[in-house]
Amino acid sequence: MRLLLVEDDPMIGESVLDALRAEGYAVDWVRDGQSADAAWSGEHYDLVLLDLGLPGRDGLQVLKAARERRDRTPVLIVTARDAVDERIRGLDAGADDYLLKPYDLSELQARIRALLRRAAGRAEPALEHRGLRLHPATREATLHGRPLVLSQREWAVLEALMRRPGVILSRAQLEEKLYGWNEEISSNAVEVYVHSLRKKLGADFIRNIRGMGYVLSREDTQAP
Ligand code: CA
Repeated sequence: MRLLLVEDDPMIGESVLDALRAEGYAVDWVRDGQSADAAWSGEHYDLVLLDLGLPGRDGLQVLKAARERRDRTPVLIVTARDAVDERIRGLDAGADDYLLKPYDLSELQARIRALLRRAAGRAEPALEHRGLRLHPATREATLHGRPLVLSQREWAVLEALMRRPGVILSRAQLEEKLYGWNEEISSNAVEVYVHSLRKKLGADFIRNIRGMGYVLSREDTQAP
């Protein structure tokens, strides 16, 4: 799950970033409206945490622009503005929920989970391949009907491959799924997670195409 955090206050931003990363979300943090526009229009996010009072371009304008380009990413407005009309304007502009500062981090996390569940109710179908089913919204995985436990980063690598069946993804493309911006990337991270996924899914589930990257093995190569 990848979240966009739009927040200009460094202290709030740091604490929210830490709390969300501890929950296993990949988080990109931007601090002004223009950067929010650029990030949001260039990348798929599962949820946007949006501050309204931003330098440059106001959070409401950022939200309106996203909805005008028919982007339906769930949006949680997080702002110090407590006037009722601000709240109404945010919701009218297409926000899904509203949280006023100061707030409790555990409440923020609960609201995020609720919005992600609601978005899941808009029914993103499960991803399926060779007996493996991934439910992206609830992060549940089953292998031949049995629950499969995956770490957040194993999940990120696997989901990326499951979304592009038959497509070879480069190590750089997979690394991008593993981390938010500015996070350290160990040089063999992708290999490490592919290795642990193969232990859980079978050695031939993910193929390494030398010099190019990784791809899911085709159905018809499945061993009996
Ligand atoms: Ca602000």
